[in-house]
Amino acid sequence: MKFNPADGIQDLQYFGEFGGVNPSISDSSTYTFLSAKTMFDTFEGNTEGCYLYSRHSSPSNLYLGEALAAMEGTESANVTASGMGAITAVIMQLCGAGDHVVSSRTIYGGTYAFLKNFAPKLNISTSFVDITKLDVVEAAITENTKMIYCEAVSNPLLEIADIKGLAALAKKHNLPLVVDNTFSPLNIAPAKLGADVVIHSLTKFINGSSDCVGGVVCGTTDFCLSLKDVNDGAAMLLGSTMDSVRASSILKNLRTLHIRIKKHSENAQYLSEQFEKDGLRVVYPGLASHPGHETLKDQMNDEYGFGGMMTVDVGSLDKANALMELMQERNLGYLAVSLGFYKTLFSAPGTSTSSEIPEDEQKEMGLTDGLIRFSIGLDNDIKRTYSMMRTCMEELGILTPKDELSFV
Ligand SMILES: *Cc1c(COP(=O)(O)O)cnc(C)c1O
Repeated sequence: MKFNPADGIQDLQYFGEFGGVNPSISDSSTYTFLSAKTMFDTFEGNTEGCYLYSRHSSPSNLYLGEALAAMEGTESANVTASGMGAITAVIMQLCGAGDHVVSSRTIYGGTYAFLKNFAPKLNISTSFVDITKLDVVEAAITENTKMIYCEAVSNPLLEIADIKGLAALAKKHNLPLVVDNTFSPLNIAPAKLGADVVIHSLTKFINGSSDCVGGVVCGTTDFCLSLKDVNDGAAMLLGSTMDSVRASSILKNLRTLHIRIKKHSENAQYLSEQFEKDGLRVVYPGLASHPGHETLKDQMNDEYGFGGMMTVDVGSLDKANALMELMQERNLGYLAVSLGFYKTLFSAPGTSTSSEIPEDEQKEMGLTDGLIRFSIGLDNDIKRTYSMMRTCMEELGILTPKDELSFV
């Protein structure tokens, strides 16, 4: 049977202490042992199902991790306090002084800043490449390379990584392929396409209510155990631990992810088609004009669509700013970073989430001044939203009113 990420989540059910329909929250930082020997074994990592201390693991975090592993089709998963907590732990686990990373150049600003500015302090260097060109990726690999890093759908330019191709390349050079799947949960299952480690910022679509930060690393049991090894595990020692109460609330939100993703995708597909017809430069992987459209079609789980992220270029930063302010005034969304909320969120990445990237590099990547990144919300009537957004654009001279067009 074809792998469906939502089925894996659905099939896991945990009951609460008193038969509750939700699992009980483990409200403890530390756990008692009946025997001193078991405590020793747990420290050594030899006991399944024993809890030691909640920075290491806790029942609530394990429930959430198990559900996310089922979603990604990996053996195991560790949840972390944030997406960056997951990303930095993976990099630090796989790389040491003198090592090298081959990374996509279009990645989340924080990840870029970590690899570009922080990792060099530890003598870890990175080559940033155009991830859509497999020959360029291969040419960047050196004898010190320890991982290939990319985003399945990249931030903010929505480039589509050819995960099958990258996985083959990684295998050939005996390197792990690490994929950040934050923009495309359910849409893409990178591990099923050959990725070794899949990371999410749970802060975005997966939690979906913009009320907390969280992250996860999905991978083999061995890798997940190594991350929380008490002696040298990066997740354990860097201490980016999710709180149990939060793990429990994210698990509840995960239960509705499939419904939300379908609606995000449906709405984004509609808006992108309309704005493209209107003559705007729209980037959306669900458009035939998107360079990664075919690659994504080949990799995606069809029923979830092409995702909720879209960018529109309105020509200049001034126009972008004016449009975002007007749309917010008319309650069409919020001028805010982040994504995956029920409400549409928009920001100009060049001056916000990707401002860590120097201006000349932004240009080279195709990150233009007038670019607005949209995380399309769960609006009930997207046609109504479109017409209201179009009115804003007409008032600001970004689009010509349709009734005037007929006179031309
Ligand atoms: C937000 C984001 C992150 C960082 O996640 P946090 O939860 O904010 O730490 C990493 N990657 C991508 C693609 C993101 O959008």
